[in-house]
Amino acid sequence: MLDRRELRTWAEIDLDALEHNYRALRAMLPQGCRFAGLVKADAYGHGAVPVAQKLERLGADLLAVACVDEGEQLRRAGISMPILCLGQTHPALGEELLQWDIIQEVEDLDSARVFSEIAQKQGKKLKVHIKVDTGMGRLGFRWEDGDNQAVAQEMAQVCALPGLEVEGMFTHFAAADGDEAYTMTQFTRFLDARKALEERGIHLKIYHCGASSAVLHYPCTYLDMVRPGIVLYGYYTDEDSRGLDGPGLIPVMRLKSRIAAVRAMPAGAKVSYGCTAELKRPSRLAVLPIGYGDGLPRVLSNRMEVMISGKLCPIVGRICMDMCMADVTDLPEVKPGDVAEIYGPGLTEQTAQLADTISYELLCHVAPRIPRVYWENGQRIS
Ligand SMILES: *Cc1c(COP(=O)(O)O)cnc(C)c1O
Repeated sequence: MLDRRELRTWAEIDLDALEHNYRALRAMLPQGCRFAGLVKADAYGHGAVPVAQKLERLGADLLAVACVDEGEQLRRAGISMPILCLGQTHPALGEELLQWDIIQEVEDLDSARVFSEIAQKQGKKLKVHIKVDTGMGRLGFRWEDGDNQAVAQEMAQVCALPGLEVEGMFTHFAAADGDEAYTMTQFTRFLDARKALEERGIHLKIYHCGASSAVLHYPCTYLDMVRPGIVLYGYYTDEDSRGLDGPGLIPVMRLKSRIAAVRAMPAGAKVSYGCTAELKRPSRLAVLPIGYGDGLPRVLSNRMEVMISGKLCPIVGRICMDMCMADVTDLPEVKPGDVAEIYGPGLTEQTAQLADTISYELLCHVAPRIPRVYWENGQRIS
């Protein structure tokens, strides 16, 4: 009997590959350096709860999310390890941070004051990490080259607020996948910010800045913790890192679709919306039950390829909401019920390039209606 989840389109999530990646990355870190596993955006589309549970079992030190709801979801599922919210939280949700025991980033003095009041009213301490903008141009205390006394003063004020426990400080690199000079400029600014706090007698427990690219390329930036995301899921952040002897990462997700029909079509037949494709020869087309409603970018119409029976087959015509067609003329043995691989090793990154995007986006867009089927110890788990 086929698993009912695997009758249409599904994503196989290989927790053994996740474990391999985790261990490989861990092995790059010095003793004592903490590991924060990124599980935002439903663990980059892999399913936040099973991934978080696996990372907890593996001994990760912390999980990082983008919003309170993501943290709540993990707590409701029984995750008890520290959770850090890297995104802004509206003060209206301040109580929920306390309720769910989520560590919050703080990016300015005003919001820190509001969180401080909320925590005091509850008679609790809210753990926070100070976010410093060293050049990402997004959120955080803005640290420029030159005089930062006023900023340092504000950060020191945050550290003195009652109701808050300032546990750490962090920044985020904008170009660690290629621009070493800019990354080192940002890193230097971050170290300056740390020094400015230390000069004020403030010594925080966890200073951190490195995401995946920095983990791959800049060990000098590891400090007390790293925050890798995409590498955990088996993808590199740039061409250069693919050649690294280091981690040997394994893609965790394989997106698969079961061929719904195989149809013989004459030369000249038009295919799909807008009739953008016209067959040049008598062809056999496999209808795949996956479309942009499943997260496949429509921009890949007439461009992307999928893997069937070990061969790359082009998608013909527009990608529809729920279906698309692959040319299997050169694979006479292919029949309905056979499986096409859409994303996976050797597929996702090429497909992302064709769509002018990155593997991150394709993975995040794998739609909720696609069942995630988990594998562990070489076996499908329920
Ligand atoms: C998303 C994110 C990360 C992880 O980035 P990757 O490139 O996937 O490793 C780390 N830190 C912050 C602040 C993030 O927003």
